[in-house]
Amino acid sequence: MIQTVRGTRDILPEDMPLWRRVEDVARESFRRYGYREIRTPIFEKTELFARGVGEATDIVHKEMYTFVDRARADSEGESLTLRPENTAPVVRAYIQHKIFADKSPGELTKLYYSGPMFRRERPQAGRYRQFYQIGAEVMGSSDDPAIEAEVIEMLDWFLKELKITNTTLLINSVGDPASRAAYLEKLREAIRPKLDKLCADCHHRYEANALRVFDCKVESCQPVIATLPVITDSLDEASLEHFEKFKAHLDARGVAYTVNPRMVRGLDYYTRTAFEIVGNDKLGAQNTLVGGGRYDGLSETLGGPPIKGFGFAFGLDRMVMALPDDEAERLRAADALDLFVVFLGAAARDRAFEDARKLREAGVAVAMEFEDRKMKKAMAAADKSRARFALIIGENEVASGKYGLKNLASGEQESLSLDEIIVKIATEPRSHRDKEKER
Ligand code: AMP
Repeated sequence: MIQTVRGTRDILPEDMPLWRRVEDVARESFRRYGYREIRTPIFEKTELFARGVGEATDIVHKEMYTFVDRARADSEGESLTLRPENTAPVVRAYIQHKIFADKSPGELTKLYYSGPMFRRERPQAGRYRQFYQIGAEVMGSSDDPAIEAEVIEMLDWFLKELKITNTTLLINSVGDPASRAAYLEKLREAIRPKLDKLCADCHHRYEANALRVFDCKVESCQPVIATLPVITDSLDEASLEHFEKFKAHLDARGVAYTVNPRMVRGLDYYTRTAFEIVGNDKLGAQNTLVGGGRYDGLSETLGGPPIKGFGFAFGLDRMVMALPDDEAERLRAADALDLFVVFLGAAARDRAFEDARKLREAGVAVAMEFEDRKMKKAMAAADKSRARFALIIGENEVASGKYGLKNLASGEQESLSLDEIIVKIATEPRSHRDKEKER
């Protein structure tokens, strides 16, 4: 039997209500905070990520799904890559479509995206080779730290709305490119005498971009990493001031945070503010829910104008895992069918088709089977469908126009006309979507 490729998986119908809930709440957050959606291709030129994310990062160095496209008559096959992240593509689109062009000074472009990303990482719980991210980018001429705090405030609301608690916001500043260059020198000097204690990947990182040593997860490297100088002690004046203001904005919003000077994020484009939201005990080892930061130089790196940017992405896979059990149960229950039609006899079958259509036209979610069965079997099918109600149509019901409506949870049964049934079902909230609308 052919199965899914290692590191990929099917999201089955039982889990989809949880995925949709996370997506819906994300969309609602973006709507409230003035973001618009963008969709970019799943594959891009390899160079976009090599330049944007950085050659020395684990993502580009080890994890990309890169392939040479078929050569055509007029061109060599070019190197393409399944996107491992979506900030570089969004910034590329922003430049390509000159989204910056008709903006007044200080005007921000706020974009969000949702879709699959691909990294050839070692699969484990919460880590997949095809995973799903939702993310947002704020771009414009301003690098006001209030922009960053507003993003965090939005994420705070988002997590609360999903009932995900016990998360920790970790923040750091990775400085501007000049102060980082000076710091990298210091860092390399500190690493050099200890190189023999570090893993092969760290040797590569030391050569290519020493900052990436902090991304190392190898146990035996950690004691050395713990002794290395931290970037927070080498910040330039302006980055330091920026960081202080960012923290003050978080304080003003009542958002709790922890400064982690060793959190430098695994992508090269970050400048100044970087952050992560680390999740609760449901997540295990792969517990980073959200990652983001400022990337002021990225547009220029990609051949665009000097635009400032700040953004984040979260993993949908992990966000779904972090949902509390009772919330997950509620979401699954709210996804249930409204009604399952049980009919007995040929006349009732015809009536059932007609009534199912009328109910569906009235917005009721209806399922039925097409086989005429004994009452007991038919009721078992209704139970199995997890519908809220069973509608029972037999010969008497066809004659009288009054049907049996059985609440499958409580077992209560009433005798009602079709119109009364429609009213009854319509007045009770059908699913969490309707409850959302009613709020
Ligand atoms: P990054 O783009 O590496 O900053 O990651 C941002 C978020 O995407 C992480 O915090 C995770 O929630 C999620 N993520 C990254 N890589 C994976 C993966 N391989 N599998 C599942 N989720 C991931």
